[in-house]
Amino acid sequence: MRRALVSGASRGIGAACAEALARDGNFVAVNYLKSRERAEALAKRIGGAAFQADVSDYSQVERMTAAFGSADIIVANAGIALQKLFSDTTPEEWRRVFAVNVDGAYNLIRSALPHMIHEKWGRIVVISSVWGVRGGSCEAAYSASKAALIGLTKALAKELGPSGITVNCVCPGVIDTDMNSVLDGETVASLTEDTPLCRLGTPEDVAEAVRFLCSEGASFVTGQVIGVDGGFGV
Ligand code: NAD
Repeated sequence: MRRALVSGASRGIGAACAEALARDGNFVAVNYLKSRERAEALAKRIGGAAFQADVSDYSQVERMTAAFGSADIIVANAGIALQKLFSDTTPEEWRRVFAVNVDGAYNLIRSALPHMIHEKWGRIVVISSVWGVRGGSCEAAYSASKAALIGLTKALAKELGPSGITVNCVCPGVIDTDMNSVLDGETVASLTEDTPLCRLGTPEDVAEAVRFLCSEGASFVTGQVIGVDGGFGV
């Protein structure tokens, strides 16, 4: 049985990834920031375990990694959005977006690597965004942080391939989760219209791609940036 750690997994895409990985026979650590009850309920349902940690803080991630034990699979999913004009974005907001989205991935991967390298087996999936590829107006910090994850994916795929570790990136389009609850009806309708498959995605749509990338069957897939976006990014 492989051991998987999914960050930001109490709800949304992370929760769906945790469920899909558990269905595939993995023992799953459900990382959460604040929603302890939801994380523990999910962990119980899928036969995993819940661990609190702010992924932007390396010492907290190290503590979580030590408590969970070695992870064979990392899904760096935790993320925050920021919808603001670039000129209104404060240095603190800019840094927080990068701290969670980019440092969070670094912290999770770095703390899991010694075990993966020792085992000569590992699966790392980073959740970026279609905005990391296309760039989103009024989402410069978010887009830049998600673009950074694409660079990280490609560089790490080359560096870690000889150690039997695959590194891939999933770029969701517009997915129906709490992250998009700030959007008004008109914006959602317009985003749906811009999506060739004419609907918003579900967390399960994203989780299915993540599940595949973490499976034995994906052993020759690395360094890839895979859109799960209904064609929105085309
Ligand atoms: P969400 O807001 O429901 O989930 C984000 C999760 O990350 C939450 O559980 C939150 O508590 C957790 N989190 C935030 N900061 C954290 C921290 N410092 N430490 C630990 N956990 C933290 O949104 P979602 O849509 O499920 O987003 C999941 C990922 O998918 C994010 O990285 C997001 O950027 C990405 N994404 C989402 C969409 C979309 O349309 N929903 C599109 C593209 C990419």
